[in-house]
Amino acid sequence: MLLDVHRRLGYRRLADFLRATQDPEYLSAKAVDIGDFSRLAILLAAVFLVAAIIWDYAIDPANALGTAWLRIVESLAVLGWAMANRRGIHSKTARIAALVTPLFVEITFLQILSMLHNGSAYGMGGILYGYIFGPFLVLAQPFGFAVLVLALPAILPVLAWFLGLSFGVDWGIYNAYVWMGFVPVVFILLFFEYLYWNVFSYRRQVEKQAVTDGLTQIANRRHFLGEGARHLARHHRNRDPASLLFIDVDRFKSINDSYGHHVGDDAIKHVVDTLLPLVRESDLIARYGGEEFVVFLQETGARGADLIAERMRAAVVAHPFVAEFEHAPTIKLTVSIGVSVFEPGATPDIDLLIHDADQALYEAKRRGRDCVVGYGAIAPDDRQPHRAVATT
Ligand code: GH3
Ligand code: MG
Ligand code: MG
Repeated sequence: MLLDVHRRLGYRRLADFLRATQDPEYLSAKAVDIGDFSRLAILLAAVFLVAAIIWDYAIDPANALGTAWLRIVESLAVLGWAMANRRGIHSKTARIAALVTPLFVEITFLQILSMLHNGSAYGMGGILYGYIFGPFLVLAQPFGFAVLVLALPAILPVLAWFLGLSFGVDWGIYNAYVWMGFVPVVFILLFFEYLYWNVFSYRRQVEKQAVTDGLTQIANRRHFLGEGARHLARHHRNRDPASLLFIDVDRFKSINDSYGHHVGDDAIKHVVDTLLPLVRESDLIARYGGEEFVVFLQETGARGADLIAERMRAAVVAHPFVAEFEHAPTIKLTVSIGVSVFEPGATPDIDLLIHDADQALYEAKRRGRDCVVGYGAIAPDDRQPHRAVATT
């Protein structure tokens, strides 16, 4: 019953959500997107701490000059916090500064209140003012850490009261101010976290969709062209070979014609499922078009590429496709594969590599399909000149 209530109020969902916000990818995205804003807020806080001299003057003109230097020290401490963030919001120095600076400011604040006539009575508002700034200063930090940074100055006065330390402050009123500020601020932080998490998740989903083929969930052509060009440039720099396979399902049109496009789609997915176990972690497979796939093989020369291509061809033959159609017919599939190789020293052009593999594939079709042909095996007279393909 109790568990039920928890579930209904969403506690468990809240716990799951907070756990999800610890994802390193999320934390670094948050640091990048909000880091500058947080740093700016810290700088502004330093400025406003100096400006608080005016506030002190309003409370007690006679003693305000005596406390001004403490305001400047507070401001310098906050500037130090801003500086500590220079090596990244998640750096150890940034974390230590985030924990220590608010405590330091709180202690000096108490000191200032005790030095001003009626300071305790009129200066307490400074606590709420501090909590207005608080969430902005820690916005880029992980949620749990941000709450800790804001919680420590709330716990300190409770401890002081408990230990009987005076500072000339009425701890009852002080704690009332602090906790009335701290609790809503945690909700503000939580609300912000929720909003940013939604933005992040949505963005990640869109980014993934932009590089993924909808039917097969492998990379799409655009992603392949971009990544392939990047990999090729690296191979060129390191003087490593690389290879490219162009795979085309044989007589695919007849599957569509016999069983319909839905079965054809399933056949495409089946081919991908068959090929994927043979694609190494470092390689990249993509759907180039309808029933055509390309594979970029890193640091692989002609011999290795031929071997992998032959394994893929044989795997497709060994795994016929059982269609979800009437009496579940078993459809024998075959693929033809063209192989092109990037030799160190050659032009690192992904379009050229695709063009050569496509030519080799054409030759494989001509030779009767269900076979692997390397670009080098085509007679030079039969080769079509390469024209750069628009990479849209
Ligand atoms: P070949 O052995 O010469 O490659 O013969 P083929 O029939 O496979 O060659 P062709 O390129 O003429 O036909 C490919 C067919 O693939 C044409 C098109 O109807 C089909 N096709 C393309 N994209 C999809 C898709 O996303 N789903 C389905 N079901 N069929 C597709
Ligand atoms: Mg085709
Ligand atoms: Mg085909």
